[in-house]
Amino acid sequence: MTEVSRNLEQVRQSLPEGVKLVAVSKYHPVEKLREAYDAGQRLFGESHEQELRTKHEQMPKNVEWHFIGHLQTNKVKYIIPYVAMIDAVDSIRLLREIERQAERQGRDEVRVLLELHLAEEATKYGLSPDECRQLLADGEWRQMKHVRICGLMMMATNTDDEARIEREFQTASDFFDEVKAQYFADDDRFAERSWGMSDDYRLALRHRSTMVRIGTSIFGPREY
Ligand SMILES: *Cc1c(COP(=O)(O)O)cnc(C)c1O
Repeated sequence: MTEVSRNLEQVRQSLPEGVKLVAVSKYHPVEKLREAYDAGQRLFGESHEQELRTKHEQMPKNVEWHFIGHLQTNKVKYIIPYVAMIDAVDSIRLLREIERQAERQGRDEVRVLLELHLAEEATKYGLSPDECRQLLADGEWRQMKHVRICGLMMMATNTDDEARIEREFQTASDFFDEVKAQYFADDDRFAERSWGMSDDYRLALRHRSTMVRIGTSIFGPREY
């Protein structure tokens, strides 16, 4: 057993049934991804277009790639051929470009999550709840044939204050219900609540996370 496979097993055992695990492999060498793959992991998250492209070429083709970082509009075209989900859509412009490139490149459907910004750090990307309401109310997304909005993604404030982190997860969870009722009541596929990383996923699970994004606890510290 490798260290990666041991870690992976430990993380898996701490997840309730049905919660999806995105193994966040950014900055880690492809050998470590292979160890995770050999231990059965199929869902991987990357946050840089170039790195994702290289790893996609080197890894087996049945890996499901999630793009989890901030995505620049001009990079969309490069990842569209093989990305299964874009986890952090934070503008209508980005959504439009995903639709446009998916159409051009013959992708029937690209799954996306809308990224909600609740953390106190000004540096984090994402839509405020009001911006998210506005995007959905505008309705342009309804015309998009190749983009499927599957839920929300959120990163909590990076702090030791667990009460604060839990409040943010709860706010995201409540906001999910609001949006679900208003726009996706008849759409079973709007179901994902992606919150929780290595340091806070245990808290996220208390607030109905369905998809955790975990890097360090599986692969160890990143080498930048
Ligand atoms: C890097 C990253 C993670 C994983 O963080 P860890 O603390 O290593 O688990 C999760 N989500 C996003 C969006 C990231 O960029």
